[in-house]
Amino acid sequence: MKNTEQGLSKVQREIHDAEHKFGREPGSVKLLAVSKTREPEQILAAAALGQRDFGENYLQEALDKIQTLKSHELCWHFIGPIQSNKTTSIAQHFDWVHSVERAKIARRLSDARPAELRPLNICIQVNISEESSKSGIKLAELSNLAKSVSDMPGLALRGLMTMPALSDNFDEQRQAFHTLSEAFAELKSNYPDIDTLSMGTTTDMQAAIAEGATIVRIGTAIFGPRTA
Ligand SMILES: *Cc1c(COP(=O)(O)O)cnc(C)c1O
Repeated sequence: MKNTEQGLSKVQREIHDAEHKFGREPGSVKLLAVSKTREPEQILAAAALGQRDFGENYLQEALDKIQTLKSHELCWHFIGPIQSNKTTSIAQHFDWVHSVERAKIARRLSDARPAELRPLNICIQVNISEESSKSGIKLAELSNLAKSVSDMPGLALRGLMTMPALSDNFDEQRQAFHTLSEAFAELKSNYPDIDTLSMGTTTDMQAAIAEGATIVRIGTAIFGPRTA
């Protein structure tokens, strides 16, 4: 197993360097540590170095970890596909959801958000590559879904998320992120409070930062290859 401390420090350094290289403000890119399939001990090792934000894809696994680690005041982001019957638990236990792609799911999250908690932070997932196998809405559907989400009292529309088709070509990676970045700028003219562009994983973080990512979602480069 890879040493979490080393992996995290390396990624922090790479983010810092990429901010500099691409003319981004220092500290403008937040690291979301994707901890799906990882043990609570690995999350704690990252938390000990100051990492606060963790991303999970599988609800039951995530709920167990959130419960185990609840005294550490971590910030939990749900980033996986959402089934209707999972919305109540997600609304109760997470701070962010990056993978909203249907108004019906958004409505259920909003209705289930406990009144004593702040509104659930929402990113709408967009399918830039428009492959049928990938999650997310088409760009043409964005303004309708953004309107729905922004009208829901239990939700706070924060921005957009994408998971583009895998490519090892930097220019191709940038092109996909550029498309989302433009859609974000356009959306922001109607919703000035949105501030989040969630894009970039281990394989394409540099391109995402070059195109304006404010959250990068990194698993493998921190924790090593996933075996599960
Ligand atoms: C697993 C996952 C990641 C992290 O991917 P790595 O290649 O391990 O960095 C990021 N975003 C989403 C939506 C994921 O499911």
